[in-house]
Amino acid sequence: MTEISAEPRGSAELEVVNPATGVRIGTAPVLDAAEVAALAERGRKAQLAWQALGFDGRAVVFRRMQQWMADHADEILEAVQAETGRVFEDSVLELAYPLTALGHWADNSGKYLRSKRIAQTSPFVLGKKMRAHYVPHGLVGIIAPWNFPITIGFGDSIPALAAGNAVILKPSEITPLSIEIVRRGLIECGMPRAVFQVATGAGATGAAVVDVVDMVMFTGSTATGRKIGAQAAQRLIPVSLELGGKDPMIVLADANIERAANLAVFGANVNSGQVCLSTERFYVEAPVYDEFVARVVAKVKALRQGVPVAPGAVDVGAIITEAQVGIIDAQVRDAQAKGARVLVGGKPVTDGPGRFYQPTVLVGVDHSMTCMTEETFGPLIPIMKVADAEEAVRLANDSKYGLAATIMTRDHKRGERLARRIEAGSVSVNDMLTHCFALGLPMGGVKTSGIGTRHGADGIRKFCKKQAVLVARSFPNRDVHFYPTDA
Ligand code: NAD
Repeated sequence: MTEISAEPRGSAELEVVNPATGVRIGTAPVLDAAEVAALAERGRKAQLAWQALGFDGRAVVFRRMQQWMADHADEILEAVQAETGRVFEDSVLELAYPLTALGHWADNSGKYLRSKRIAQTSPFVLGKKMRAHYVPHGLVGIIAPWNFPITIGFGDSIPALAAGNAVILKPSEITPLSIEIVRRGLIECGMPRAVFQVATGAGATGAAVVDVVDMVMFTGSTATGRKIGAQAAQRLIPVSLELGGKDPMIVLADANIERAANLAVFGANVNSGQVCLSTERFYVEAPVYDEFVARVVAKVKALRQGVPVAPGAVDVGAIITEAQVGIIDAQVRDAQAKGARVLVGGKPVTDGPGRFYQPTVLVGVDHSMTCMTEETFGPLIPIMKVADAEEAVRLANDSKYGLAATIMTRDHKRGERLARRIEAGSVSVNDMLTHCFALGLPMGGVKTSGIGTRHGADGIRKFCKKQAVLVARSFPNRDVHFYPTDA
């Protein structure tokens, strides 16, 4: 891969390494608070012209960008693959999502943000003209995690830009390079240079972004979300938080067990288990438990893991950092120490320069073990036998997280009823992850998985201030003035 270097250049540098090979692939500057403040000044100036373009004008740039990304697919996929060490098939999500989102927000922003005439029945406002308007915040900060540098970093910027804001994106310090390709593309597609700017660096650069923007959307860990929420509260700016998860899958006795096993293996191993919506704990009704475990074990044993060199070559790629390998392994060791059994995998892969963890199946687990309570972010399938759906729902809700969940059953109506009882922002019946592409549906977390949603009407309205304008066109005798006047 050719070395990419993000602009503008700061004094310190981030060194970026391919986690699958251990090879250094590029550098990016660490921006300090003064450099971030300079970006903010440029962004605010550029925002006015961008807002003035209107929905249709901005949609033209988005449509051009769709084509540009499709034309530069190889360059984009190669860059994200190198930064993340993921397999080709997982990288494709980094194109599929932004292409979907660019089209969705080009088509729908005007509809969601059109100012509305409001009718009221209070005697004080009868006959007055009232309109509610959505006004862009101005400068929005998007702070993104490493696990989907383009899907999340750029994907969350799209509705902010569509609403007429300028954006400063702070990518993860682990994956700061591929987004530079997107920034270049937007400029080539006609977006004024300072409307979409990238501030590379670590947590301090992120905090500097929160200090200068009018609204912040953060996606990342719950621990960082708390810090950003507190900082935003001090500044009294709106904040939207998309945080960690510990998604359950419930397998009922009437489920299609082959599909359940396929989704389980996919949900736990896609992107090496490093997806906020990874399925991380499994509750299976007793009558189908043995069959489910046997099918999952056979499928996991068949997975090919390794350095992703070409499409179709391997199924499971690398783990992003050594620290993350340590978290996964500590959860497996904790479970074993408390009586769980490893049926497949259960160890880091140590025979090469890259960072990998074996796809793993654990049984005999319970909620005293961290693999059932803490986010894993690794290729782990811990399976628990349950007596019935009631026990499964109780255990699924016995979590501090509430991002997403899956229920497997042939009884769709029952599945839907159970879904309503799960404490999670998104629940799928007999499906998984496709929520991400249903941009008309709100998607977000409850409990410590987040505040606010992406997608749907709120997914763009949150990037706007709401303003009410009331016009009194005539002056009736009885009005809001109670005091006697001479007039
Ligand atoms: P992280 O919280 O470590 O870092 C996320 C971003 O925050 C990075 O850009 C980082 O530099 C920045 N940051 C760190 N400290 C900061 C501070 N004090 N102020 C401002 N910015 C700061 O998360 P990560 O390890 O990059 O990502 C993995 C986490 O993200 C997992 O918990 C995963 O579940 C979560 N995630 C959630 C979603 C979702 O939609 N809910 C999607 C993807 C990932």
